Amino acid sequence: MTDPAERTMRFLYGLRSAGVTDARVLTAMERIDRGAFVRGIFAERAYEDMPLPIACGQTISQPSVVGLMTQALQVNSRDKVLEIGTGSGYQAAILSQLARRVYTVDRHRRLVREASEVFQALSLANITALTADGSFGLPDQAPFDRIIVTAAAEDPPSPLLAQLRIGGIMVLPVGQSDTVQHLIKVTKTETGLDYEEMRPVRFVPLLEGLGQE
Ligand code: SAH
Repeated sequence: MTDPAERTMRFLYGLRSAGVTDARVLTAMERIDRGAFVRGIFAERAYEDMPLPIACGQTISQPSVVGLMTQALQVNSRDKVLEIGTGSGYQAAILSQLARRVYTVDRHRRLVREASEVFQALSLANITALTADGSFGLPDQAPFDRIIVTAAAEDPPSPLLAQLRIGGIMVLPVGQSDTVQHLIKVTKTETGLDYEEMRPVRFVPLLEGLGQE
């Protein structure tokens, strides 16, 4: 299965079978080669629907989960999006195809550097990657139309809820890292927050402070 066209077809078929049906999301995921974000011995498994190890003991999420989270986020072409948990940069790259601008934050300097190199190589000029503790969001760039968190917290961090624009959507996994986590979709309205529970997932934990290199 080395033929790239066949590989892409199978990759997209897998996404559709998992419930990723939004044409814009599928097009974005067809355009962005996941293989560019996986290094070393796992690179050959980049087109399988599974999470894979990346540097700093972290993981690149499963493509179907990336697809479902992106779909739930309902990104518009004029949106400013914040991602917490850059990791490999794959999720940010997908978002860059759908949004006006993407800010992505990781607590590991090395991951931010390596992801930035890939963004540059792929000419994804609307992504800004920064090293920071993302639990506090990015107050300087707030408010955001959309926020996605790709590491699990027990509850949605309140600074992130505060930095979401009214009418904005945030998608994140919540729950303790060693038990079942759920993806949730939070919509901010004039009167408060609406919560919708999606599917069970497993993410690495959202940790405090910067990572030790
Ligand atoms: N979205 C990534 C996968 C992220 S894995 C991808 O597409 O590859 C989760 C990431 O969240 C890890 O890289 C981890 O370092 C980061 N992370 C955990 N806690 C964080 C925090 N408080 N602030 C910023 N990043 C954090």
